[in-house]
Amino acid sequence: MPCSSSSRFSSSRTSPDILSVDLHLHSNASDGTDPPAVVVRKAVAISLSAIALTDHDTLSGIPEASAAARDLPIELIPGVELSVDHGGVKIHMLAYFIDPEPGPLQDRLEILRAGRDIRNRRIVDRLNDLGYPVTMEDVLRHAAGDAIGRPHIADALVSGGAVADRSEAFRELLGDGGPAYVERDRLTATKAIGLAIESGGVTSIAHPLTIDPGDATLRSLFEDLRDVGLAGIEAYYSEYAPAIRTQLAEVAADLGLVATGGSDCHGSGKPGLEIGTGHGDLVVPDSALEELRVRKP
Ligand code: AMP
Ligand code: FE
Ligand code: FE
Ligand code: ZN
Repeated sequence: MPCSSSSRFSSSRTSPDILSVDLHLHSNASDGTDPPAVVVRKAVAISLSAIALTDHDTLSGIPEASAAARDLPIELIPGVELSVDHGGVKIHMLAYFIDPEPGPLQDRLEILRAGRDIRNRRIVDRLNDLGYPVTMEDVLRHAAGDAIGRPHIADALVSGGAVADRSEAFRELLGDGGPAYVERDRLTATKAIGLAIESGGVTSIAHPLTIDPGDATLRSLFEDLRDVGLAGIEAYYSEYAPAIRTQLAEVAADLGLVATGGSDCHGSGKPGLEIGTGHGDLVVPDSALEELRVRKP
């Protein structure tokens, strides 16, 4: 087992013996705005020891990120973020150590991206019905990668002058339950966890406090998924107050799960959220990565 870094981690992040990581990052392979190599270089510039690139439903940014990391003092963990369903409850799931090559989870990503394309067209149709003259061509102009979604549709609406920014597009039109919202196919959480394990990877629940567990409790949901192979929950999340991060890390420890963490930086797609530090106060201990590593199947 890796040693816990909690003691050396309690002092300032400027101390040279403190290693911190960021296990939740997006590039322009999905809905981030920086190319994968730029994400890597920004992480090196603030001395992170490792990062995971976790674009939505795609590993297409991994080769560029790996190549950029090769001659730099940083480890690149290949990852992906999935939108999954657990008995009607929506969850975002991070999968780590998923190499960009054929495999059980990897092959499924292609199907998920095809589902995105169908959904994107339906959203554009709905926007047209609502009087917004946006086209799929407009949307594609805002996408550099192969995982295209609502943020790119939002960007097209911003370009057309319909809304001021991505946030307004989600708030007024594209957000869950909004007038232009369209559902899409999701893997079940259990299936996603199983496919990740079959692909040699591990999973962690992203930003767990965005989950609405309905009649269940978050704790029981974590337990259900732990029992089918979940490795961690994202305790050290940029949008959570330090005391909440600590509480979530305690829940993780209590349940035998790894407390993982990351910024969820999307470049300028989520203004004010920086790689590694989030809103300025995020520190994710490298022990999170080491604890995940020992859970690899
Ligand atoms: P999709 O994957 O197409 O369903 O779009 C969901 C993605 O949109 C999330 O992963 C976020 O990155 C992004 N997103 C959701 N809400 C907002 C918001 N209010 N402002 C900017 N981006 C958002
Ligand atoms: Fe996103
Ligand atoms: Fe997410
Ligand atoms: Zn994310």
